[in-house]
Amino acid sequence: MIKILEKNVADKIAAGEVIDRPVSIIKELVENSLDAGADSITIEISDGGKTYIRVTDNGCGIDPDQVELAFRRHATSKITSEQDLDTIATLGFRGEALASICAVSRVELITRTEESRTGRRVIIEGSDVISNSATGCPEGTTITVKDLFFNVPARNKFMASAASESRRIIDFASRIALSYPDIRFNVINSSKRVFTTSGKGNILASIISIYGTDTGKDLIPVEKSEGGLLLKGYVSSPGTSLPSRSRQVMCVNGRIISSNVMERAIDRAYQDRLFKGRFPVAFLFLAMPPEKLDVNIHPTKKEIRFDDNAEVEDFIYAAIRDALRQKEAIPSAKPDAKAAKPMALTENESEYTTKNQIKVPVLNDEKFEIEYKAEQVNINNVLETLRKEQISKSAEPEPPKLQPVYRPFEFDELKVIGVIFNTYIAAQDSDSFYLIDQHAAHERVFYEKLTEQFRSSEKAMQQLLLPLNFNVSAAVTASEESWIEPVRSFGYNIEFFGNNTYIVREIPSFMDMAEAEEFLEDIFMQLDEKPDLSNSRVFERIITKSCKSAVKAGDRLDDSEIMALFEQLKSCENPFSCPHGRPTFIKMTQYELERMFKRA
Ligand code: ADP
Ligand code: MG
Repeated sequence: MIKILEKNVADKIAAGEVIDRPVSIIKELVENSLDAGADSITIEISDGGKTYIRVTDNGCGIDPDQVELAFRRHATSKITSEQDLDTIATLGFRGEALASICAVSRVELITRTEESRTGRRVIIEGSDVISNSATGCPEGTTITVKDLFFNVPARNKFMASAASESRRIIDFASRIALSYPDIRFNVINSSKRVFTTSGKGNILASIISIYGTDTGKDLIPVEKSEGGLLLKGYVSSPGTSLPSRSRQVMCVNGRIISSNVMERAIDRAYQDRLFKGRFPVAFLFLAMPPEKLDVNIHPTKKEIRFDDNAEVEDFIYAAIRDALRQKEAIPSAKPDAKAAKPMALTENESEYTTKNQIKVPVLNDEKFEIEYKAEQVNINNVLETLRKEQISKSAEPEPPKLQPVYRPFEFDELKVIGVIFNTYIAAQDSDSFYLIDQHAAHERVFYEKLTEQFRSSEKAMQQLLLPLNFNVSAAVTASEESWIEPVRSFGYNIEFFGNNTYIVREIPSFMDMAEAEEFLEDIFMQLDEKPDLSNSRVFERIITKSCKSAVKAGDRLDDSEIMALFEQLKSCENPFSCPHGRPTFIKMTQYELERMFKRA
């Protein structure tokens, strides 16, 4: 039943601009279809939705005598009284959407309920009913919206390009399709299919149909229920991260929302695992008692307010943290560089850290690309393990596993042909030419040896004839507890000597004395600036930075040293990038060279 809301109820509902661009129309229409109980919804657009939008559903339809009423302001079948506002179970309730849409466009509604033998077709332009007639049609509702803002030229100008408007629409459609895995969504843009979900209820399958296998394949399931809250979903392992939140979808009681509270919970769960400015993929579905939240704070209902922010944040944080722990999520490379790309929703931000592409400008503005794997978190896992070990010596902690790395070429086949600028090792195989950054390579070797040493129970150490002394700041001495064990685990025999001095009698066997000294000095220097090591993430950064300073660029290496470095790099778990994620090599194929010389 559609009724006009009592004025006080209507006033309670924060009024606002419902329609500002094509995607808001899609949102309202799709939400109406969902409220109508549809299990199949088709969204069609052309020209970014600016000139054409059509949403078709197989829901309950609208009674023939109410079709015009549906377009009146504050006409809704979903609530009757103020009390109903506290327990809204539908997506719509303001009775404003259709009224707002038909005021600024040309709308055609075709609808039929189960009970009526024929359907109705209503045409409304700028709120004027042009026609209302009987028509044959299947059960359900189809609403076509043409020429948005045809009568509001000022607003018309505000719309972005068709590409950008369709990107917003597809992004919205993706999110809503995800949050309703039981409903079949079909999205068509300019007569081309964008995606179709099966409607069979499998969230992971929906993620893959919408975002592609790249996003879908390494996800970790999250599930937790406590105190009336239920969370389900998927998050990425720390090895896959994005420069924005574009792949974070949050859904509360079936509503796609954005929530600072939930974002904070995600960030906290990954705090030790991702660099600042990187965001995990997260698809989170929260179900909670409707009386514990307020959905009515934003006119387009995008934001919601929880009665108890802390409760929700802690609950979600704990759920993700447990999932990550369980998986002992260690970053791994994408083994297939050609794997399906996620949809072009966010063309400029869809690069994954695990599959960075570096574009190097060369002659004639030609570009060649290399792909490499950036390994980000590693020592961190080791530190975790160590901490656990310290807490309970009896429990055998699982040693962190390294996963196979995507290998862009076979090191074994490379032949070294020289060194350029004292910095780049030139090498070739049967069809490509390579430059290997000596410094990055050395750093990688150093870092892996350090990690390996840290992990192994037997420390390979060498005794010094003359011990090294380190005079450190009082702050570093005071925070000894936080760094001395990790430093010992690298293979340093280090002891306090009194008076802010530490004495080192043995150093890791893979370092020479200069390296060992430099590395430790650098750690002390950084500790001095940041003595609080309660965050293991900070320590990890200190270590990676120190690796860098221990290894010098531009040093002239003789042939045997180059060969030694090359051999060591070859045996690395990940010889293809330095610990900071920069590539150790660049590659140019024979074909690319030939093109530059205009031979090919
Ligand atoms: P609200 O969704 O807030 O109730 P709308 O303006 O979006 O307001 O819709 C007005 C009314 O029209 C709804 O309450 C509903 O009864 C009817 N309606 C709109 N779209 C559909 C649809 N796709 N299927 C069935 N009924 C619909
Ligand atoms: Mg509605």
